[in-house]
Amino acid sequence: MRFLPIGLVVLVGMLGWVPATLAWSSKGHRLITSAALDAVNLEGLAWSKSEQVTIANASVQPDLMRPRGLPQLRAVEAPRHYLNLELLEGKALPEERWQYINLLNRIARAGDGKSLLRPDGDVTQIGTLPYALVESTQRLAAIFAQLRVRPRDRELRIMAAHQAGFVAHYAQDLCQPLHTTVHHDGRARRDGSSPHTGIHRQVDSLLQSVPLEALDIGDRQPLKPLFPAVVRAFRESHSQVDRVYDLADELADLQENDGLDSELLKLAQERYLQSVSFTADLIHTAWLLSSSVDLPDWVPQVD
Ligand SMILES: [Zn+2]
Repeated sequence: MRFLPIGLVVLVGMLGWVPATLAWSSKGHRLITSAALDAVNLEGLAWSKSEQVTIANASVQPDLMRPRGLPQLRAVEAPRHYLNLELLEGKALPEERWQYINLLNRIARAGDGKSLLRPDGDVTQIGTLPYALVESTQRLAAIFAQLRVRPRDRELRIMAAHQAGFVAHYAQDLCQPLHTTVHHDGRARRDGSSPHTGIHRQVDSLLQSVPLEALDIGDRQPLKPLFPAVVRAFRESHSQVDRVYDLADELADLQENDGLDSELLKLAQERYLQSVSFTADLIHTAWLLSSSVDLPDWVPQVD
């Protein structure tokens, strides 16, 4: 197995492979984000209705940040939406992105995951979703820290709304089980390539295709410490991959208006609840994290 230098891992290899599909449809992202904003209570910070609309609209933006016409952006953005867990062969995810890049290099050197890696042994296809999510949540905490001292600052509120939308998007991608697996659009072939069966798109549109019950996310705990909590949510989502494939026929039937299977409805309701809860938890956690962020002296201290 050839060694991939870090620079290649980060920049070049990511050009080579991206999933063909988005994640929950734009409708689905807006639906989940709106429900999460209804559920979340940030104590000192209440979003206005128009700010909630801004956040819901921002939650579809990450899928517009990887056009083929902007190749350098696409190279780094596309892998933020998934992580193919099987390719790590049981290795724990390290807490920081650069430790993770080092892990990818070790995998490339050792030939681990060889049976599932693409023929060129490219490890950059594995994806970076948990890192994108944790980093985005911490960015939101950094903006919230400023809002704590200038809660009426309009520019800050807009920045926070946009960033909250990005957090929501990655959180919701993580809750779509096919974003956690090498089997992201049909069971992967022996060489690791995807057959692109269309099941990914069917799951993406699931939430807008079924009648969802009103949600009660109950009493929630903040996600502290953040990284292990994100990894737990990622593994929970990954644990649903086989269940999704067990329901492949029912998903296809739904697309053809051939009726809604009760197990499929149950799956949709559960993924909806998990997506809404996780999005709300992350925004709430960013707010709590912001209380321990020190601002430098040059930051204005009043509105
Ligand atoms: Zn996405």
